[in-house]
Amino acid sequence: MEKYDLHSNKASCFMNQQKVDENLQKAISFSKDDIYINEVIKKAKSMQGLEPIEATALLLSNVDIIEIYKLAQDIKDSYYGNRIVLFAPLYLSNYCVNSCTYCPYHVLNKTMPRKKMSQDEIKKEVIALQDMGHKRIALELGEDPVHNPIEYVLESIDTIYGIHHKSGAIRRLNVNIAATTEENYKLLHTAQIGTYILFQETYNKQNYERLHPRGPKHNYDYHTEAMDRAMSAGIEDVGLGVLFGLHNYAYEFIALLMHAKHLEELYGAGPHTISVPRLRPADGIDVSSFKNALPDDVFLKIIALLRISVPYTGLIISTRESKSIREKALKLGISQISGGSKTSVGGYSTLIEPDNAQFEISDNRTLDEVVYWLMENGYIPSFCTSCYGNNRQGVDFMDICKAKQIGQFCTPNAIITLKEYINNYASPKTKELGNQMLQKELEKLSDRRKSSIIKRLELLNSSGEVKFF
Ligand code: SAM
Repeated sequence: MEKYDLHSNKASCFMNQQKVDENLQKAISFSKDDIYINEVIKKAKSMQGLEPIEATALLLSNVDIIEIYKLAQDIKDSYYGNRIVLFAPLYLSNYCVNSCTYCPYHVLNKTMPRKKMSQDEIKKEVIALQDMGHKRIALELGEDPVHNPIEYVLESIDTIYGIHHKSGAIRRLNVNIAATTEENYKLLHTAQIGTYILFQETYNKQNYERLHPRGPKHNYDYHTEAMDRAMSAGIEDVGLGVLFGLHNYAYEFIALLMHAKHLEELYGAGPHTISVPRLRPADGIDVSSFKNALPDDVFLKIIALLRISVPYTGLIISTRESKSIREKALKLGISQISGGSKTSVGGYSTLIEPDNAQFEISDNRTLDEVVYWLMENGYIPSFCTSCYGNNRQGVDFMDICKAKQIGQFCTPNAIITLKEYINNYASPKTKELGNQMLQKELEKLSDRRKSSIIKRLELLNSSGEVKFF
């Protein structure tokens, strides 16, 4: 039996199941200890993050939720300001050899129409995304060595980065493909991907194996060690996530934070992002057969506590969630959202969405509607991709974030890219509100900062060039 070791790159050590259980038991007992909880709150107020046990004790405690929400909001404001980064998923192929019991793309689903896009079809999809105003996308593919080999992924990345339709460009391509070899991660790194994203689905090994009964994804250790291989291969930004609804939420929460801590200890930078997907209805998937559904109030508490526990990690919420949940979640620490999304292969460029979607989405608004709504709620919608181009990744990004300096880059870049969106894509209503917001945001800045941004806005207006800070 392997022993827990935070610094090992073996899942049986850093995600030792006995240790997760042990930590969870400690958190349960601390959650009833008022003195302990008060100490943790005091520590949380220093905005330096929390240990997995501390955060989980708070999650399970009866602590005043208003206090937790307020703290999460303060942390978000102080590290990230009011900008929200936007992206969209792009599904390239739904061929899959795995058997994930919650996903309609599983190999045994013979009624799911299978589709793998050609490079020409990908171009059409990317043009449709560019015409909406997107600059950042997350590539999604099923795992299938025959239909979706790494060569196909690399060719598609090349195609996507090469498309410049009108004022459009995809400037950051995040990739969500199944766990793969270190060699393949090196290839993805060389292809200049942004973040490598892989959801753990569940950290509980026994349940993981039951939920993934066959196919390469059945191998828990290989899946769990993926981020270690990715980071060893040179990918500095990785994105974690669990699919809430598959297992007990407190177990997932503590294990997720243990994973984040492991990456930070071993590679100097924790995860660049954490996503919080919840299980959704899908073709042939009966969500009610999963007994761990996460209620909204606990979901929001988890988001707030992630913000408090890992202040330097971006938090992502997708269109799996409704407008009203997203509105609440934004206040509690979410820094990135998807907008105008389709979860089908070929869904952006066709008038009638193909009947091959991965799951139902709850927020069906257009990107323009999402942009408008963000501004109405006081957020600057940001299409910024500058960290990637300016080598602000991995440890470097974390250092800037820890020093609370990302606002120096993010806010001006959000202003510039919002103006780019207004100039090229916004509806008249969004344009009007956007220009008012830009004025207001500029007024908040020092004269020096303001004049340097105005120069770049003038450059943008005259030549279309986006010059990032
Ligand atoms: N192919 C990659 C892999 O095998 O790991 C992942 C790509 S998949 C398109 C992205 C994610 O969607 C999965 O990791 C899973 O968490 C999530 N997903 C699958 N079925 C879902 C459902 N019914 N509701 C919500 N999310 C789901």
